[in-house]
Amino acid sequence: MIAQMVMTDYLPHILKCVRCGKCRIYCPVHEELKWESTSARGRVLCIRALCDGIKPTERMLQSFGTCVTCGMCTENCPSGAKADELVEVARAELVDSGYLSKEHRLLSDRVNECGNVLGEDGERLNWVPDYTPVDSADEVFFAGCMECYRFPETAADTYEILRRFGVALLPDERCCGSPLLRTGQIADAKKLIKHNIEQIHGLGARKVIVGCAGCYTTLKNDYLKYADDGIDFEVVHVSEYIVDRLDELEPHRLDLTVSYHDPCHIGRSHGIYEAPRRIIERVCELVEMEHIKSDARCCGGGGGVRIAYNDLSMALARKRLHDSPEDVDYIATPCPLCERNLRDAGGKTINLMTLLRNAL
Ligand code: SF4
Ligand code: SF4
Repeated sequence: MIAQMVMTDYLPHILKCVRCGKCRIYCPVHEELKWESTSARGRVLCIRALCDGIKPTERMLQSFGTCVTCGMCTENCPSGAKADELVEVARAELVDSGYLSKEHRLLSDRVNECGNVLGEDGERLNWVPDYTPVDSADEVFFAGCMECYRFPETAADTYEILRRFGVALLPDERCCGSPLLRTGQIADAKKLIKHNIEQIHGLGARKVIVGCAGCYTTLKNDYLKYADDGIDFEVVHVSEYIVDRLDELEPHRLDLTVSYHDPCHIGRSHGIYEAPRRIIERVCELVEMEHIKSDARCCGGGGGVRIAYNDLSMALARKRLHDSPEDVDYIATPCPLCERNLRDAGGKTINLMTLLRNAL
Protein backbone atom coordinates (compact mmCIF):
# COMPACT_ATOMS: atom_id res chain seq x y z
CA MET A 1 0.00 0.00 0.00
CA ILE A 2 1.16 3.51 -0.72
CA ALA A 3 1.35 5.50 2.52
CA GLN A 4 -0.54 8.74 3.17
CA MET A 5 1.54 11.69 1.87
CA VAL A 6 0.90 14.83 -0.15
CA MET A 7 0.44 14.09 -3.84
CA THR A 8 3.75 15.42 -5.13
CA ASP A 9 5.44 12.85 -2.85
CA TYR A 10 3.94 10.24 -5.14
CA LEU A 11 5.85 11.41 -8.20
CA PRO A 12 8.12 8.32 -8.18
CA HIS A 13 4.97 6.18 -8.27
CA ILE A 14 3.37 8.38 -10.92
CA LEU A 15 6.50 8.21 -13.08
CA LYS A 16 6.34 4.43 -13.04
CA CYS A 17 3.65 4.79 -15.70
CA VAL A 18 5.55 4.69 -19.00
CA ARG A 19 2.31 5.32 -20.96
CA CYS A 20 2.45 2.02 -22.80
CA GLY A 21 -1.35 1.86 -22.86
CA LYS A 22 -1.61 -1.82 -21.94
CA CYS A 23 -4.12 -0.96 -19.21
CA ARG A 24 -6.54 0.35 -21.84
CA ILE A 25 -7.34 -3.27 -22.70
CA TYR A 26 -8.07 -4.15 -19.09
CA CYS A 27 -9.84 -1.12 -17.61
CA PRO A 28 -13.57 -1.97 -17.57
CA VAL A 29 -14.54 1.69 -17.35
CA HIS A 30 -12.46 2.63 -20.38
CA GLU A 31 -14.09 -0.24 -22.26
CA GLU A 32 -17.45 1.33 -21.48
CA LEU A 33 -16.76 5.08 -21.80
CA LYS A 34 -13.92 4.93 -24.38
CA TRP A 35 -12.32 8.27 -23.37
CA GLU A 36 -8.57 8.20 -22.76
CA SER A 37 -9.21 10.06 -19.50
CA THR A 38 -11.17 7.06 -18.24
CA SER A 39 -8.32 4.58 -18.70
CA ALA A 40 -5.68 4.02 -16.04
CA ARG A 41 -3.12 5.76 -18.27
CA GLY A 42 -5.39 8.77 -18.65
CA ARG A 43 -6.04 8.90 -14.92
CA VAL A 44 -2.32 8.82 -14.14
CA LEU A 45 -1.78 11.62 -16.67
CA CYS A 46 -4.50 13.68 -14.93
CA ILE A 47 -2.75 13.07 -11.60
CA ARG A 48 0.53 14.20 -13.12
CA ALA A 49 -1.21 17.37 -14.30
CA LEU A 50 -2.47 18.04 -10.76
CA CYS A 51 1.08 17.63 -9.46
CA ASP A 52 2.20 20.20 -12.03
CA GLY A 53 -0.26 22.65 -10.50
CA ILE A 54 -2.96 22.47 -13.17
CA LYS A 55 -6.43 23.29 -11.78
CA PRO A 56 -8.80 20.30 -11.92
CA THR A 57 -11.30 20.40 -14.79
CA GLU A 58 -14.71 18.71 -14.93
CA ARG A 59 -13.24 16.02 -17.19
CA MET A 60 -10.46 15.35 -14.68
CA LEU A 61 -12.95 15.05 -11.81
CA GLN A 62 -14.95 12.63 -13.94
CA SER A 63 -11.76 10.71 -14.67
CA PHE A 64 -11.11 10.15 -10.94
CA GLY A 65 -14.79 9.74 -10.02
CA THR A 66 -15.46 6.93 -12.50
CA CYS A 67 -12.67 4.61 -11.31
CA VAL A 68 -14.18 1.58 -9.58
CA THR A 69 -10.79 0.87 -7.93
CA CYS A 70 -10.99 -2.67 -9.27
CA GLY A 71 -7.20 -3.06 -9.54
CA MET A 72 -7.29 -4.60 -13.04
CA CYS A 73 -4.76 -2.00 -14.22
CA THR A 74 -2.38 -2.65 -11.32
CA GLU A 75 -2.66 -6.40 -11.84
CA ASN A 76 -1.64 -6.07 -15.48
CA CYS A 77 0.70 -3.06 -15.53
CA PRO A 78 4.14 -4.17 -16.81
CA SER A 79 5.93 -1.38 -15.01
CA GLY A 80 4.30 -1.68 -11.59
CA ALA A 81 2.26 1.53 -11.63
CA LYS A 82 -0.67 1.38 -9.22
CA ALA A 83 -3.26 3.61 -10.83
CA ASP A 84 -6.07 2.54 -8.48
CA GLU A 85 -4.11 3.62 -5.41
CA LEU A 86 -3.00 6.83 -7.09
CA VAL A 87 -6.63 7.65 -7.90
CA GLU A 88 -7.48 7.34 -4.20
CA VAL A 89 -4.60 9.66 -3.33
CA ALA A 90 -5.82 12.19 -5.91
CA ARG A 91 -9.36 12.00 -4.58
CA ALA A 92 -8.12 12.68 -1.04
CA GLU A 93 -6.07 15.65 -2.22
CA LEU A 94 -9.05 17.02 -4.15
CA VAL A 95 -11.34 16.66 -1.12
CA ASP A 96 -8.76 18.57 0.94
CA SER A 97 -8.87 21.32 -1.70
CA GLY A 98 -12.67 21.51 -1.56
CA TYR A 99 -13.58 19.29 -4.54
CA LEU A 100 -16.19 16.79 -3.35
CA SER A 101 -19.19 15.73 -5.40
CA LYS A 102 -22.62 16.04 -3.77
CA GLU A 103 -23.13 12.28 -4.16
CA HIS A 104 -19.93 11.48 -2.27
CA ARG A 105 -20.64 14.15 0.36
CA LEU A 106 -23.92 12.35 0.97
CA LEU A 107 -21.92 9.31 2.10
CA SER A 108 -20.14 11.22 4.89
CA ASP A 109 -23.32 13.13 5.83
CA ARG A 110 -25.13 9.84 6.31
CA VAL A 111 -22.28 8.27 8.25
CA ASN A 112 -21.93 11.28 10.53
CA GLU A 113 -25.66 11.30 11.19
CA CYS A 114 -26.47 7.59 11.50
CA GLY A 115 -23.15 5.67 11.70
CA ASN A 116 -23.94 3.88 8.46
CA VAL A 117 -23.40 4.76 4.84
CA LEU A 118 -26.99 4.05 3.84
CA GLY A 119 -28.56 6.74 6.01
CA GLU A 120 -30.65 4.22 7.96
CA ASP A 121 -31.70 5.25 11.45
CA GLY A 122 -32.83 1.79 12.65
CA GLU A 123 -30.85 -0.32 15.10
CA ARG A 124 -27.80 -1.84 13.40
CA LEU A 125 -28.28 -5.23 15.05
CA ASN A 126 -32.02 -5.55 14.43
CA TRP A 127 -31.30 -8.77 12.55
CA VAL A 128 -30.27 -10.49 15.83
CA PRO A 129 -33.51 -10.75 17.81
CA ASP A 130 -31.79 -12.49 20.74
CA TYR A 131 -28.73 -10.22 20.85
CA THR A 132 -27.05 -10.13 24.24
CA PRO A 133 -23.94 -7.97 24.63
CA VAL A 134 -20.80 -9.70 25.88
CA ASP A 135 -17.94 -8.22 27.92
CA SER A 136 -15.18 -10.05 26.09
CA ALA A 137 -14.63 -12.28 23.05
CA ASP A 138 -11.62 -13.76 21.26
CA GLU A 139 -13.28 -13.57 17.86
CA VAL A 140 -15.85 -11.15 16.48
CA PHE A 141 -17.87 -10.87 13.26
CA PHE A 142 -17.83 -7.46 11.58
CA ALA A 143 -21.10 -7.44 9.63
CA GLY A 144 -20.84 -4.11 7.74
CA CYS A 145 -23.53 -1.60 6.67
CA MET A 146 -24.74 -3.48 3.58
CA GLU A 147 -25.44 -6.71 5.43
CA CYS A 148 -26.97 -5.02 8.48
CA TYR A 149 -29.38 -2.84 6.49
CA ARG A 150 -29.79 -4.33 3.01
CA PHE A 151 -29.10 -8.04 3.52
CA PRO A 152 -30.01 -8.70 7.18
CA GLU A 153 -30.85 -12.31 6.31
CA THR A 154 -27.27 -12.77 5.06
CA ALA A 155 -25.88 -11.24 8.24
CA ALA A 156 -28.11 -13.60 10.26
CA ASP A 157 -27.04 -16.65 8.19
CA THR A 158 -23.37 -15.78 8.62
CA TYR A 159 -23.68 -15.15 12.33
CA GLU A 160 -25.71 -18.33 12.80
CA ILE A 161 -22.74 -20.26 11.41
CA LEU A 162 -20.04 -18.27 13.19
CA ARG A 163 -21.67 -18.33 16.63
CA ARG A 164 -21.26 -22.13 16.64
CA PHE A 165 -17.53 -21.40 17.04
CA GLY A 166 -18.01 -18.81 19.78
CA VAL A 167 -17.77 -15.76 17.52
CA ALA A 168 -19.42 -12.64 19.03
CA LEU A 169 -20.69 -9.29 17.71
CA LEU A 170 -19.42 -5.80 18.47
CA PRO A 171 -21.87 -3.92 20.72
CA ASP A 172 -21.67 -0.71 18.67
CA GLU A 173 -20.23 -1.47 15.22
CA ARG A 174 -20.29 1.46 12.77
CA CYS A 175 -19.47 1.78 9.08
CA CYS A 176 -15.94 0.43 8.48
CA GLY A 177 -15.00 3.64 6.65
CA SER A 178 -14.44 2.07 3.23
CA PRO A 179 -16.82 4.29 1.20
CA LEU A 180 -15.23 7.40 2.72
CA LEU A 181 -11.64 6.23 2.24
CA ARG A 182 -12.28 5.26 -1.39
CA THR A 183 -13.83 8.67 -2.10
CA GLY A 184 -11.03 10.65 -0.44
CA GLN A 185 -12.88 11.64 2.76
CA ILE A 186 -10.06 10.61 5.06
CA ALA A 187 -10.81 12.77 8.12
CA ASP A 188 -14.35 11.40 8.52
CA ALA A 189 -13.15 7.85 7.82
CA LYS A 190 -10.53 8.11 10.56
CA LYS A 191 -13.23 8.84 13.16
CA LEU A 192 -15.03 5.61 12.21
CA ILE A 193 -11.81 3.63 12.25
CA LYS A 194 -10.96 4.92 15.73
CA HIS A 195 -14.43 4.03 17.00
CA ASN A 196 -14.41 0.50 15.58
CA ILE A 197 -10.89 -0.22 16.83
CA GLU A 198 -11.98 0.86 20.34
CA GLN A 199 -14.94 -1.54 20.05
CA ILE A 200 -12.71 -4.44 18.98
CA HIS A 201 -10.04 -3.73 21.60
CA GLY A 202 -12.77 -3.19 24.21
CA LEU A 203 -13.81 -6.84 23.86
CA GLY A 204 -10.18 -8.00 23.76
CA ALA A 205 -10.83 -9.68 20.40
CA ARG A 206 -7.79 -11.13 18.62
CA LYS A 207 -9.55 -11.99 15.39
CA VAL A 208 -12.08 -10.06 13.29
CA ILE A 209 -14.03 -12.04 10.69
CA VAL A 210 -15.39 -10.14 7.70
CA GLY A 211 -17.50 -11.10 4.66
CA CYS A 212 -17.95 -7.82 2.72
CA ALA A 213 -15.06 -7.13 0.33
CA GLY A 214 -14.96 -3.40 1.05
CA CYS A 215 -14.98 -3.93 4.82
CA TYR A 216 -12.37 -6.66 4.49
CA THR A 217 -9.79 -4.68 2.55
CA THR A 218 -10.39 -1.64 4.77
CA LEU A 219 -9.94 -3.47 8.07
CA LYS A 220 -7.03 -5.47 6.67
CA ASN A 221 -5.09 -2.64 4.98
CA ASP A 222 -6.28 0.69 6.30
CA TYR A 223 -6.95 0.15 10.01
CA LEU A 224 -3.28 -0.40 10.77
CA LYS A 225 -2.36 2.60 8.62
CA TYR A 226 -4.71 4.97 10.44
CA ALA A 227 -4.72 3.49 13.97
CA ASP A 228 -3.26 5.94 16.50
CA ASP A 229 -1.82 3.23 18.73
CA GLY A 230 -1.63 0.21 16.43
CA ILE A 231 -4.04 -2.71 16.33
CA ASP A 232 -4.02 -5.87 18.35
CA PHE A 233 -6.05 -8.20 16.14
CA GLU A 234 -5.88 -10.06 12.84
CA VAL A 235 -8.48 -9.74 10.10
CA VAL A 236 -9.64 -12.86 8.27
CA HIS A 237 -12.14 -13.34 5.51
CA VAL A 238 -15.18 -15.41 6.45
CA SER A 239 -14.45 -17.90 3.64
CA GLU A 240 -10.96 -18.56 5.04
CA TYR A 241 -12.33 -18.95 8.54
CA ILE A 242 -15.08 -21.35 7.50
CA VAL A 243 -13.15 -23.49 5.02
CA ASP A 244 -11.06 -24.94 7.86
CA ARG A 245 -14.21 -25.79 9.81
CA LEU A 246 -16.27 -27.45 7.06
CA ASP A 247 -15.70 -30.94 8.48
CA GLU A 248 -17.04 -29.80 11.82
CA LEU A 249 -20.10 -28.23 10.18
CA GLU A 250 -20.86 -31.40 8.16
CA PRO A 251 -22.89 -29.69 5.39
CA HIS A 252 -25.05 -31.85 3.14
CA ARG A 253 -25.18 -31.59 -0.65
CA LEU A 254 -27.63 -29.24 -2.33
CA ASP A 255 -29.10 -29.99 -5.74
CA LEU A 256 -27.78 -26.73 -7.18
CA THR A 257 -25.34 -25.54 -9.80
CA VAL A 258 -23.60 -22.34 -8.87
CA SER A 259 -21.05 -19.92 -10.36
CA TYR A 260 -18.66 -17.87 -8.27
CA HIS A 261 -18.00 -14.12 -8.69
CA ASP A 262 -14.60 -13.02 -7.29
CA PRO A 263 -14.98 -9.62 -5.56
CA CYS A 264 -12.03 -7.37 -6.55
CA HIS A 265 -11.10 -6.54 -2.96
CA ILE A 266 -11.02 -10.14 -1.85
CA GLY A 267 -9.53 -11.64 -5.02
CA ARG A 268 -7.08 -9.31 -6.79
CA SER A 269 -6.37 -7.29 -3.64
CA HIS A 270 -5.69 -10.24 -1.33
CA GLY A 271 -5.44 -13.38 -3.43
CA ILE A 272 -8.35 -15.17 -1.76
CA TYR A 273 -9.54 -17.41 -4.58
CA GLU A 274 -9.58 -20.98 -3.29
CA ALA A 275 -11.43 -20.85 0.04
CA PRO A 276 -14.79 -19.66 -1.40
CA ARG A 277 -14.56 -22.23 -4.22
CA ARG A 278 -13.86 -25.05 -1.77
CA ILE A 279 -16.97 -24.09 0.23
CA ILE A 280 -19.14 -24.11 -2.90
CA GLU A 281 -17.71 -27.41 -4.15
CA ARG A 282 -18.40 -28.97 -0.77
CA VAL A 283 -22.13 -28.22 -0.95
CA CYS A 284 -23.01 -28.17 -4.66
CA GLU A 285 -21.67 -28.12 -8.22
CA LEU A 286 -19.45 -25.19 -9.16
CA VAL A 287 -19.40 -24.06 -12.80
CA GLU A 288 -16.93 -21.26 -13.36
CA MET A 289 -17.76 -17.96 -15.03
CA GLU A 290 -15.58 -16.61 -17.79
CA HIS A 291 -12.91 -14.27 -16.41
CA ILE A 292 -12.15 -15.64 -12.98
CA LYS A 293 -9.70 -15.06 -10.14
CA SER A 294 -7.17 -12.32 -11.02
CA ASP A 295 -8.91 -11.88 -14.38
CA ALA A 296 -12.39 -11.45 -12.87
CA ARG A 297 -14.37 -8.46 -14.08
CA CYS A 298 -15.59 -5.97 -11.48
CA CYS A 299 -19.29 -5.97 -10.48
CA GLY A 300 -19.20 -2.20 -11.04
CA GLY A 301 -20.25 -1.27 -7.50
CA GLY A 302 -17.01 -0.06 -5.93
CA GLY A 303 -15.05 3.17 -5.63
CA GLY A 304 -18.14 5.31 -5.03
CA VAL A 305 -19.25 4.68 -8.65
CA ARG A 306 -22.56 3.03 -7.73
CA ILE A 307 -23.81 6.18 -6.02
CA ALA A 308 -22.26 8.80 -8.31
CA TYR A 309 -22.41 7.13 -11.76
CA ASN A 310 -25.18 4.56 -11.43
CA ASP A 311 -25.67 4.05 -15.19
CA LEU A 312 -21.99 3.18 -15.56
CA SER A 313 -22.16 0.94 -12.50
CA MET A 314 -25.11 -0.98 -13.98
CA ALA A 315 -23.43 -1.26 -17.38
CA LEU A 316 -20.38 -2.85 -15.72
CA ALA A 317 -22.62 -5.20 -13.74
CA ARG A 318 -24.48 -6.29 -16.89
CA LYS A 319 -21.17 -6.98 -18.59
CA ARG A 320 -20.09 -9.12 -15.63
CA LEU A 321 -23.35 -11.08 -15.87
CA HIS A 322 -22.48 -11.97 -19.47
CA ASP A 323 -19.58 -13.97 -18.01
CA SER A 324 -21.97 -16.26 -16.14
CA PRO A 325 -22.99 -19.62 -17.63
CA GLU A 326 -26.66 -19.48 -18.57
CA ASP A 327 -27.87 -22.60 -16.80
CA VAL A 328 -26.61 -22.00 -13.25
CA ASP A 329 -29.08 -21.61 -10.41
CA TYR A 330 -27.16 -18.77 -8.75
CA ILE A 331 -24.08 -16.62 -8.89
CA ALA A 332 -22.55 -16.88 -5.42
CA THR A 333 -20.34 -14.23 -3.89
CA PRO A 334 -19.40 -13.36 -0.31
CA CYS A 335 -19.68 -9.59 -0.82
CA PRO A 336 -23.07 -7.90 -0.30
CA LEU A 337 -22.15 -4.94 -2.53
CA CYS A 338 -21.29 -7.25 -5.45
CA GLU A 339 -24.47 -9.18 -4.70
CA ARG A 340 -26.57 -6.01 -4.77
CA ASN A 341 -25.04 -4.59 -7.92
CA LEU A 342 -25.27 -7.84 -9.87
CA ARG A 343 -28.81 -8.42 -8.64
CA ASP A 344 -29.89 -4.90 -9.59
CA ALA A 345 -28.54 -5.58 -13.08
CA GLY A 346 -30.73 -8.68 -13.36
CA GLY A 347 -28.50 -11.43 -11.94
CA LYS A 348 -29.71 -14.21 -9.66
CA THR A 349 -27.25 -13.95 -6.81
CA ILE A 350 -26.79 -15.67 -3.48
CA ASN A 351 -24.42 -14.91 -0.67
CA LEU A 352 -21.82 -17.62 -0.08
CA MET A 353 -22.79 -17.89 3.60
CA THR A 354 -26.50 -18.23 2.79
CA LEU A 355 -25.61 -21.02 0.38
CA LEU A 356 -23.70 -22.80 3.13
CA ARG A 357 -26.41 -22.14 5.71
CA ASN A 358 -28.94 -23.82 3.38
CA ALA A 359 -26.74 -26.93 3.48
CA LEU A 360 -26.65 -27.22 7.28
S1 SF4 B 1 -0.54 2.38 -15.98
FE1 SF4 B 1 0.91 0.73 -16.54
S2 SF4 B 1 -0.15 -0.34 -18.22
FE2 SF4 B 1 -1.14 1.67 -18.01
S3 SF4 B 1 -0.05 3.01 -19.47
FE3 SF4 B 1 0.95 3.24 -17.47
S4 SF4 B 1 2.65 1.77 -17.54
FE4 SF4 B 1 1.25 1.16 -19.16
S1 SF4 C 1 -8.79 0.47 -10.94
FE1 SF4 C 1 -10.11 -0.45 -12.52
S2 SF4 C 1 -11.46 1.24 -13.18
FE2 SF4 C 1 -9.74 2.18 -12.07
S3 SF4 C 1 -8.23 2.69 -13.66
FE3 SF4 C 1 -7.69 0.66 -12.88
S4 SF4 C 1 -8.71 -0.79 -14.26
FE4 SF4 C 1 -9.68 1.23 -14.57
